[in-house]
Amino acid sequence: MCQVFIFTDLDGTLLDSETFSFNNAKKFINEIVELGIKIIPNSSKTSKEIDYFCTEANIDKTFICENGSEICGLNILDKSLPKKYILSRKKEEILKIFQESVETKVKNKCLILSEQSLEKQKRILGLSSDQVKVALNRNYSIPIIFNGNYKEKINLIEQIKYLGLSIQFGGRVLNLGDNVDKGISMNILLDLLKKNNTNKMITIGIGDNQNDLEMLHLSDYPCLILNQNNILKKNMKKKYITSKKSSPLSWIDVVKKSLKKIDLDLKV
Ligand SMILES: [Mg+2]
Repeated sequence: MCQVFIFTDLDGTLLDSETFSFNNAKKFINEIVELGIKIIPNSSKTSKEIDYFCTEANIDKTFICENGSEICGLNILDKSLPKKYILSRKKEEILKIFQESVETKVKNKCLILSEQSLEKQKRILGLSSDQVKVALNRNYSIPIIFNGNYKEKINLIEQIKYLGLSIQFGGRVLNLGDNVDKGISMNILLDLLKKNNTNKMITIGIGDNQNDLEMLHLSDYPCLILNQNNILKKNMKKKYITSKKSSPLSWIDVVKKSLKKIDLDLKV
């Protein structure tokens, strides 16, 4: 027996990057869940936001939030596992390290989104007032607007790395967080499941941005959604499955292509 898992980014991948809608994919999602395929959202969003998404999509609430910081709902996949598995330090601790140890001239190029006006937050995130509150109610990561040039960005990344933290480039903002990523947490989830499960596990990973690359590298069937401004083509390995359609149709497209490929590979 084998079990297929789809680890998927949300914004720009399954959700339209402007409207955040995925209505056109709801029927397809239900169809593949009926087949026994597990869909695990793996996003920079907060647990509350992803919880809401799962309700809308009518899928189980097992997911990874805040760029790999926390795995939620493990007990749904295996009753003997805990409800939550936390990989990250708290955001207060992360912010303290950032404030105390990053050079002032670099820090000055970083605007912490939660300290900006509600109007600015709404504009940058493309969300309503209520949605902004949920999106910024974070436990492990700090969204940042970076106003520096390329060289300053490289400098920031190097300093953050040296401090044992990470900075992830998602859709609209940078996310300062602990030294975790979507790939590390995906593998931990699978390792925990393997303890009581001898089924072969096959993973499809789907993303559209830099913060998805670790997850894609570790997936059996990595899928890249090619957005208009996608700079990731050069990172693509030959085996990547891609789609140029707009989300969520691109998501349906790469899942269909992956399932076809899995079928063929299993027959060999
Ligand atoms: Mg994305």
